[in-house]
Amino acid sequence: LYVEQPLAKGQSVPLDRDQAHYLFGVMRMGPGDPVLLFNGQDGEWRCIVAKAGKRAGELVCEEQTKPLQMPPDLWLVFAPIKKARTDFIVEKAAEMGAARIMPVQTAFTNSERIRQDRLQAHAVEAAEQCGGTYVPEVTDLQKLDRLLSDWPEDRQLMFCDEAEVGSAKRLGSASGDKWAILIGPEGGFSDAERARLHAHPNAHVVALGPRILRADTAAVAAMALWQQALGD
Ligand code: SAM
Repeated sequence: LYVEQPLAKGQSVPLDRDQAHYLFGVMRMGPGDPVLLFNGQDGEWRCIVAKAGKRAGELVCEEQTKPLQMPPDLWLVFAPIKKARTDFIVEKAAEMGAARIMPVQTAFTNSERIRQDRLQAHAVEAAEQCGGTYVPEVTDLQKLDRLLSDWPEDRQLMFCDEAEVGSAKRLGSASGDKWAILIGPEGGFSDAERARLHAHPNAHVVALGPRILRADTAAVAAMALWQQALGD
């Protein structure tokens, strides 16, 4: 279970109404039962239910069961698409260990706004589900142009370019420990964006096989390829 409070030996962790409902109503837990907690910073802790009420409760931390496992320094930069597919991308990026999830507005992005708080909650749920101890930050929507203008010199960019379909462009012998994957929207990248990205000194242009993939499929495929080539 994800909580926001610090976790340390003997630390008491108050539960809010939703958390109490989940543990004591849905999971039928009660005083003395163990619960695994994480907060994205202190690893995973086995805690014991000290008080169980309908609307509140309290746990006490007993023992750390996993240290904080930091993911590789990988950003997933993507243009948000329809709501359910954007949720899917965020969920899969958190499961696959992206350190940061960054929605961007591109020339052909159909979304003008995102619900950053909702996407962050999806990232928390995905980390909970896969037993992770780290929760990637979901940043607010920003313009791709702006992001590229401020691009950090020491971060490599795996640019997944649909126009390279069928070519053999791969990550090859790329190296570096700070990376970002860039996935475009349903409409792909504009000519101007592609020209800028091809000229970018840190960009590695990659094709994801012989077919044009939907953006959500492309995001998962790109993360798997990156993991294989450069992950831990
Ligand atoms: N509308 C575009 C077209 O028909 O050419 C397709 C865009 S595709 C649905 C969405 C994004 O997924 C692309 O911008 C790209 O980043 C990525 N993508 C999909 N298939 C790809 C492939 N075979 N190679 C590289 N990137 C791909």
